[in-house]
Amino acid sequence: MLDPVEKILQKEVLHKDEIITLIQLKPPYNSLLHQKASDVKEKSVGKVVYFRGLIEYSNRCSKSCYYCGIRSHNTLLKRYQLTDKEVIEAANYAHQNRFASIVIQSGEESSQKFITTIERLLGEIRQLTNGELHVTLSLGEQKEEAYRRWFDAGAQRYLLRIETSNPELYKRLHPVDKMHTYNRRLETLSLIKKVGYQTGTGVMIGLPFQTVEDLADDLIFFREMDIDMAGMGPYIEHEETPLFEYRNQLLPIQERLEISLNMVALLRIMMPNINIAATTAMQTIDPQGRERALLAGANVMMPNLTPLKYKESYLLYNNKPGLEDDAEESKESMEEEIRRAGDKIGYGEWGNSRHYELRIK
Ligand code: SAH
Ligand code: SF4
Repeated sequence: MLDPVEKILQKEVLHKDEIITLIQLKPPYNSLLHQKASDVKEKSVGKVVYFRGLIEYSNRCSKSCYYCGIRSHNTLLKRYQLTDKEVIEAANYAHQNRFASIVIQSGEESSQKFITTIERLLGEIRQLTNGELHVTLSLGEQKEEAYRRWFDAGAQRYLLRIETSNPELYKRLHPVDKMHTYNRRLETLSLIKKVGYQTGTGVMIGLPFQTVEDLADDLIFFREMDIDMAGMGPYIEHEETPLFEYRNQLLPIQERLEISLNMVALLRIMMPNINIAATTAMQTIDPQGRERALLAGANVMMPNLTPLKYKESYLLYNNKPGLEDDAEESKESMEEEIRRAGDKIGYGEWGNSRHYELRIK
């Protein structure tokens, strides 16, 4: 007789109750799920991991999300923004090391000056690298005009996590004002797709008040939004945030990691040809977190290229690893993790989302 997990895994389309069962599997019972995801990854996108050099451009933020260490209300933080020269140096490092892609991420700012600076940097990066370096942006919610200008200037991908697909939960994680609404987040995600970006989203896992049903809905949300890329990771508390108060109600940290890995595996099975990141938050919990994410279906890693002197000021959550690692060390530890997971590194390959390429055909 078939094992119940095996039985579910043979289904063509997973239903919510089945997703709920699989999300909650604990080791060693989730190994079958991870193995299936690994097989799906091999068949659909190959055992290749793409590097996206991460540039944490600025910690200036006009928003005040209750979970995030760089929220505007955190006055203990020194605010910074990289100089143009520092961004170009990081981009050059990525290009010379054949990463083929970078991610520019920052707090949310929407001034004309900010929009124009990013536009100019994109133009310079394109020129300096002969268009060989692809750029993902993760700069929060913006107006259509900004998204168009950045797309035209050479950004190909955009990441905007929905954070949770449950509007009620979203409300409890953000201040109640016009800048922090679920609807605005959702509409903005659709806008990003409309402008033509390879569109990525994601959620935090193990948030206060979040249920396993919410997590199943998150996966179904990704499927219905028909996204091209995903970045998900455990929620990790930060003491200078309002949600810190609920730290005693959270799942144990190791369980948050296991559920995150199960979410990655399920998403790979549900959406075989999207790109899925092995995120730093997983590594925060377990030195083998990212490697285990690769074995559960992830195919993207983000070596940190932020100049060392700024890293301490971009702490979205506690215990972020690699604060003392420079770009070289960050790259080397990831190369080792990828090797141990038995994957290859797609040096010099853009690693565009296959899902996106098929979607726009
Ligand atoms: N300002 C942009 C991008 C930077 S924040 C934006 O908000 O979209 C990038 C991501 O960090 C957020 O989407 C959120 O999912 C994650 N993050 C923030 N605080 C976190 C925490 N305490 N634990 C885990 N992830 C967190
Ligand atoms: Fe700002 Fe993004 Fe943090 Fe929210 S999650 S406070 S928008 S950096």
